[in-house]
Amino acid sequence: MTDSRKLTILGSTGSVGTSTLQVVKEAEDIEVFALTAHTNRGRLLEQCQQFRPRFAVLVEPDAAGDLAQALQQTAPNTELLTGTEALCRVASHSDVDMIMAAIVGGAGLESSLAAVEAGKHLLLANKESLVMSGSLFMETAQSHGATLLPIDSEHNAVFQCLPTALQQHIGDRSHADIEKITLTASGGPFLDLPLAEQTGVTPAQACKHPRWSMGRKISVDSATMMNKGLELIEASLLFNLPPEKIDVVIHPQSIIHSMVHYLDGSVLAQMANPDMRVPITHGLAWPQRMPSGTTALDLAEIGRLDFREPDTERFPCLRLGREAAQQGGTAPVILNAANEVAVAAFLEGRLGFVEIAQVIEQALAEIPSEAAPRLESILEIDGAARKLARELVGNR
Ligand code: NAD
Ligand code: MG
Repeated sequence: MTDSRKLTILGSTGSVGTSTLQVVKEAEDIEVFALTAHTNRGRLLEQCQQFRPRFAVLVEPDAAGDLAQALQQTAPNTELLTGTEALCRVASHSDVDMIMAAIVGGAGLESSLAAVEAGKHLLLANKESLVMSGSLFMETAQSHGATLLPIDSEHNAVFQCLPTALQQHIGDRSHADIEKITLTASGGPFLDLPLAEQTGVTPAQACKHPRWSMGRKISVDSATMMNKGLELIEASLLFNLPPEKIDVVIHPQSIIHSMVHYLDGSVLAQMANPDMRVPITHGLAWPQRMPSGTTALDLAEIGRLDFREPDTERFPCLRLGREAAQQGGTAPVILNAANEVAVAAFLEGRLGFVEIAQVIEQALAEIPSEAAPRLESILEIDGAARKLARELVGNR
């Protein structure tokens, strides 16, 4: 009988968070230590009743209502905390072994960093926190002995295709044997929609992804292909590769989740049905394996796997992501901040779909980028980029 490992799930009420709990329910040796939500107290309460964590965090105190009382009555061993500082507390607590970072957007930055500073096993879904803090994040992870386990399906696929010795030290080794990486992209719901016809796209259409069921922000990112731009930056940091060594290929079936090209011409790919429980389970069990609950892959039934070049004219966000990756420094901070503001405005009906890329491009052009930033300047530039993006949205 092995000791159970204690897990904090940051953003447990979201898409990745609930998939993580589905996996944990079937795992014998994982105990839920803390669950966190932004405002969804109903779902947080249900999760606490089922998983009995030591802490529940509701970030927005005004949304708590009678949550403390309800917990007292139905899950008395769970202590309620509120406020953003509570996220860092449950991410770095000395009793925690693993943290699933599944908050969406820059709101997850401080807690992701707190987990790596505490030297934990960080299961990273919250790509925005890595995109924002870049080399600072990777250096902090290395100097504090944190273990990074990529949960984004493409990065998890690449990780699985790396030699074990590299898996233990991603980011801090140069990969002499690796020629390049190919990230696959489904192409989202508008893969075959010409740019001119994208103007009338609605939030409901953009959030209807053909392969994956995800939160609204990442669904829009997939529709603009900014998601792949962010993932390119994410891959460059995690695997210590220049952006030129990271290709993107459209693969509409989403069966191959990414590949590593070695110098002898061998290409290793990871395949699975498109189901986030697969990378989540991989991260939770690593370096072992355990069941994920996904259906078995049936290639004969799928019949064929298609690939094609991405069209950066149709998807300018992919080009902007690559340019920000090449520029480095705080360019990814500006890219991410402007994108978050633009996507939120689009979802609220205040900005057109094709204008998302325009706002980001203008923000990148207007705000000068700095090299190798510290946390204070990252937060400052993030704030400035959000402010400018809001003005740009307002002007439209
Ligand atoms: P989601 O919108 O479904 O859930 C977001 C979670 O974050 C919720 O629990 C919410 O309460 C919490 N949250 C939102 N704003 C917050 C704030 N200001 N402070 C604290 N908590 C806050 O999002 P998701 O689809 O689960 O995605 C989560 C992260 O995982 C994103 O970074 C996304 O890019 C990444 N990711 C998701 C998928 C997927 O299949 N959904 C796949 C790969 C990567
Ligand atoms: Mg992904």
